[in-house]
Amino acid sequence: MSLARLRFLPEQSRGRRYPEPQDPYRNEFQRDRDRIIHSRAFRRMVDKTQVFASGTSDHFRNRLTHSLEVAQITRSVACALELNEDLAETLALVHDVGHPPFAHSGEAALAAEMREFGDTFDHNQHGLRIVEQFESRYARFPGLNLTFEVREGIVKHSRDFAPGEVPAFNEYLPGFKPPLEAQLVDLCDEIAYNTADLDDAYSAGLTPVDAIRQAVPKFDELWVWTARQFPDAPERKRMHEVIRMLIHHLVTGLIEGTTAACAGLGNVHEVRTAPQRVCQFTAKSGETDKQLKQYLLRNVYHSDWLREDRESAMSRIHDLFQHFLKHPEELPPGYTVDQKGEPLHRVVCDYIAGMTDGFLNRTWQAVFEPFK
Ligand code: MG
Repeated sequence: MSLARLRFLPEQSRGRRYPEPQDPYRNEFQRDRDRIIHSRAFRRMVDKTQVFASGTSDHFRNRLTHSLEVAQITRSVACALELNEDLAETLALVHDVGHPPFAHSGEAALAAEMREFGDTFDHNQHGLRIVEQFESRYARFPGLNLTFEVREGIVKHSRDFAPGEVPAFNEYLPGFKPPLEAQLVDLCDEIAYNTADLDDAYSAGLTPVDAIRQAVPKFDELWVWTARQFPDAPERKRMHEVIRMLIHHLVTGLIEGTTAACAGLGNVHEVRTAPQRVCQFTAKSGETDKQLKQYLLRNVYHSDWLREDRESAMSRIHDLFQHFLKHPEELPPGYTVDQKGEPLHRVVCDYIAGMTDGFLNRTWQAVFEPFK
C-alpha cells in the first residue's frame, strides 16, 4: 500500500513568499502546522458552529474539534500510505479556518450580501486571505508566510480550477491537481463530518437508529453485528461501536481506493497532471459515504430543528452587514487600515467573516438591542 514514491518532500517545496532561514528542529511543513496552531483564526474556531450551535450541548463538535478530528484521520491515512503526514496534517488543521460564523448559513448569508455588489464570498478564498494578510504576528512580513503547497492546498481544498477561472488563485498552478496530501484532506474531511454529524444528530435525538439502518446498508450491517457481539450493551454504546467501525470502513476504502487509482503513477508530477484527482474511495465505501451524506442532508442539515438557528443566523448577518455599510466609522480602526485599497463591502464582509458566533451575537445585540 506504500505510495512513498508519490510523497511530497519538503525539499520539493516552492518555498515561502518571504524567504526565511531554516528552523534547526522542524521541517518547513511542521513549521507551517505550528504557525497555524498558534494563529488567532485557529483559536476562533472554538466558537464557530460546525452543524449544531454551541450552547445547546457541551458535547457537540465545533469547528475547532472538527478540524482536530480531520487532522487525526488525515494523519493516520497519510502514514498508512507513506505520504507526507506533516503536510497532510497541516492542511487538515487549516482547512476550515476561513469559515464565517454559523457554518454554511453564514457563508450563504455573506455570499448573498456580496452578490448585491457583483462580488462573492467563498470560505477557501477567505482562508487564503487570513493566512496571507489578516494574521498579523510577524514583524518581517504580513500573514503567516506559509509555504506555497499549504497555500495551494487551502485554495484547492475541495475543487480544482482552470487557468483564468479564479483570478485571485492564478499563482496556484491552475489546471494542475494538488499533491496527494492535499487531495486526502478533502475526503478525510468527509469521513470526519459524515460520522461525527451522525453522532451529534443521534445525541440530539434527530436520528432514530431504525431510520439510519434503512438509509445506509453498511450501518445496518454493523448494527446487526453489534447486536451479536454486545447483546447487553445499551443503544448509545452500540452507536459508538458502529460509528467507530464506520470510520474504519471509510478509511480502509480510502486507502485501498487511492492505492488502486495511483497504480500507474510514478511521481508527484504525474499526480499533478492526472486527468482527475486520484485520491478516492473504493466503489463500495464511496457508496456508504454518499448514502451517509444524503441521509444527513435530508434528516439533519435541512431539518426543522436547525431551521430556526439558520434563519436567525442569516438575518443577524444581514442586519450587521447593512449596519456597517451605513456606519463604516464603527468598524475597528486597525481593521480598516489593514484593508486599505479594498471596497467597503469587502471590508465589511471580511470583518463579519472573521467573527465567532458569540462575537457576532454580542455585536448584533449591542447595535440592535442595546438596552435589553
Ligand atoms: Mg471541514
